[in-house]
Amino acid sequence: GAPPPRVERLSREDVFIAVKTTDRYRRPRLELLLDTWISENLPQTYVFTDGENKRLRERMGAHLIITNCSAAHNRQALSCKMALEYDTFMKSGKKWFCHVDDDNYLNVRPLLELLSHFSHTKDIYIGRPSLERPIEATESLSDTDTKQVRFWFATGGAGFCLSRGLALKMKPWASDGTFMATAESIRLPDDCTVGYIVEALLGVGLTRSALFHSHLENLALVSDIPRQVTLSYGTVENSRNTVNVKGPFSVEEDPTRFRSVHCLLYPDTWWCPGARTL
Ligand code: UDP
Ligand code: MN
Repeated sequence: GAPPPRVERLSREDVFIAVKTTDRYRRPRLELLLDTWISENLPQTYVFTDGENKRLRERMGAHLIITNCSAAHNRQALSCKMALEYDTFMKSGKKWFCHVDDDNYLNVRPLLELLSHFSHTKDIYIGRPSLERPIEATESLSDTDTKQVRFWFATGGAGFCLSRGLALKMKPWASDGTFMATAESIRLPDDCTVGYIVEALLGVGLTRSALFHSHLENLALVSDIPRQVTLSYGTVENSRNTVNVKGPFSVEEDPTRFRSVHCLLYPDTWWCPGARTL
């Protein structure tokens, strides 16, 4: 059907972008993002990681946030990071919270276009569901009492956004350390926990958007790349799962395709071939 009307004029300053990463992915993942989409969006972007780095600090200043979470890849450590992303957004006063992983390319122009069709004061949770049906979880109500719950959640690996209106309502289960307790109560990862709070506890439905992409889908099938909000890359059974862009860099030079995508979107970037010298 027809897209909903635009309800709000949004500018980049209205959006808080959280990038989740970890110390050991600084070189293999984060630096690619810093060279590409983050370089165009530094004032809106906050990088959440678990280890201090001098060069990164010089580049990002207060936009580099070192969590006191453990650097382990377990449920507690990851929900600790999400909790800090949420708390930092709440303090920022911005209209929208958007989360991405460090293997996502975020195209901020279509993101603003998408969000401008919704009011940030309403309850909006937007992203791509990672499963074909709702997830089932066991909620522990007390030491002895449990309940089955079903809900949809947006996969963190494709990125998702929350309006400030909804984020405010999430406070009792998300702010100041409560997010980790909420994640523990259902024993599920951070992105599922967001879905649990929004859908199961607050009764707000996930707004599905096909413009968010994770490496769980076949990225070669993504067309109209300039209009997508997020992209990703990965490997499946030793073969690359990436978007298809012709140039300007070869697959050897640019295995993730993010540099080629970036030159398509920002052709005047100094390292893009044919950039006009400004
Ligand atoms: N991650 C993290 N700590 C870790 C491992 C991963 O914060 O110990 C982050 C990573 O930087 C990325 C996200 O978690 O932003 C998802 O990690 P990854 O892409 O490796 O896993 P998958 O997509 O398979 O869940
Ligand atoms: Mn990933």
